[in-house]
Amino acid sequence: MISRPKGTYDVLPQEVKAWTKLESTIRKICQIYNYQEIRTPIFEAASVFHRDGNDTSDMVNKETYDFVDRSNREITLRPEGTAGVVRAFIENKLYAMNRINKLFYIGPMFRYERPQKGRTRQFSQFGVEVLGSNDPYVDAEVIALGTSLIKALGLKNVKVKVNSIGDKESRDQYRIACVEYFSAYKKELCEDCLNRLGKNPLRILDCKVDKDKEFFKNAPKIKSYLNEASKQHFNAVLQALEAMKIPYEVEDNLVRGLDYYAHTVFELEVDIPEFGAQNVIGGGGRYDSLVSDLDGPITPGVGMAFGMERLLLACAYGGKNLVVPNYLHIYFIVLGEEAKKAALAQMNVCRLGGLYCDMDYLNRGIKAQFKAADEHRAMFTCILGENELKEFKINIKNNETDEQETISLYEVYPYVLNKLNSKSACTSCKEKEVKKDE
Ligand code: AMP
Repeated sequence: MISRPKGTYDVLPQEVKAWTKLESTIRKICQIYNYQEIRTPIFEAASVFHRDGNDTSDMVNKETYDFVDRSNREITLRPEGTAGVVRAFIENKLYAMNRINKLFYIGPMFRYERPQKGRTRQFSQFGVEVLGSNDPYVDAEVIALGTSLIKALGLKNVKVKVNSIGDKESRDQYRIACVEYFSAYKKELCEDCLNRLGKNPLRILDCKVDKDKEFFKNAPKIKSYLNEASKQHFNAVLQALEAMKIPYEVEDNLVRGLDYYAHTVFELEVDIPEFGAQNVIGGGGRYDSLVSDLDGPITPGVGMAFGMERLLLACAYGGKNLVVPNYLHIYFIVLGEEAKKAALAQMNVCRLGGLYCDMDYLNRGIKAQFKAADEHRAMFTCILGENELKEFKINIKNNETDEQETISLYEVYPYVLNKLNSKSACTSCKEKEVKKDE
């Protein structure tokens, strides 16, 4: 038997409903905030992710799926959404059309990492990127969008953690201080951090292995190194969050180690015991040199990404119920070959009219067919046997009220439509109609 590749998963039909519901919630929130959807390829030229001077990121180093295609092109499956969006922004000259581009994406990402709970090799992200504005209120808007999504999903106890890593000048000063400080603890640093010490010491503060060690607590804090402009930017972000009544915590050790990040960084954390160490459901930050790194015009940006699987899991542990069960408007029960053909014709009329219908294709007995109608949560059951057919009639049962009528075979569609639209239709039918429209 062939199994799925390690670190991947199948989304089965009953689970897809939750995915589509989550996606539609995201799209609605993005519409509210005026963000436009962008779709970029899931594979890109390797150079989109592997760039000189940026090879210090763990992800870029060892977590990507890289391969050479049949024409010897170096290709990488996208491990994150930002770089591809920025590549598309430059290639399609989106900067020439709008001064500010507010974009979002939803789609699969690929990282070759050790699969564990909450961590897979193929996973999906929802992300936003705002390109073209330096305004600190944009940083706050992106965080606000994230918190709106959390609210819409009914998730409680979500913490917004923010920090500033300042502009380049501030970070250069801070970097020197970090190298000096951590050099004294070389023996205690993990292997990855020793490596980072030489290349990108800011990433040491991100380390999950070393973060609880004693010497970490006294490490220099970026806030002591922020210059005036950086402080102003950060204060404006915090004031904007306060104006929007979004609670936050300033987290001194929160950093993003890549060179292109600047100023605001943030994470959204859920307080769900089952999540263990993987309790960050989303995060992001401002970047200033990514567009120019990819040969575009100097353009500031802010982005954020959420793990879709983690959002779904968080919902399952106490958020909104995203799994709306399937239902049918009509299930056709047939007895005999002629009846089957006649029912098929009427079912087709109903389907063309937009009603959700199905019938038995296994030539089962009447009992099994009634059971199927039940399992499919049919609102109406139509029963057609040879006797009814002779008179061009059909029995129709309202499964909510158990009322049964015999109507003309050709009236099934208008009859059901009328019942669905009529005020007298049962409450649960109405509810189902509302769900259908959502
Ligand atoms: P990152 O791009 O690393 O900042 O990740 C953003 C979000 O994507 C994280 O907060 C997670 O929710 C999710 N995520 C990242 N990597 C994985 C993975 N391997 N499996 C599942 N979700 C992931």
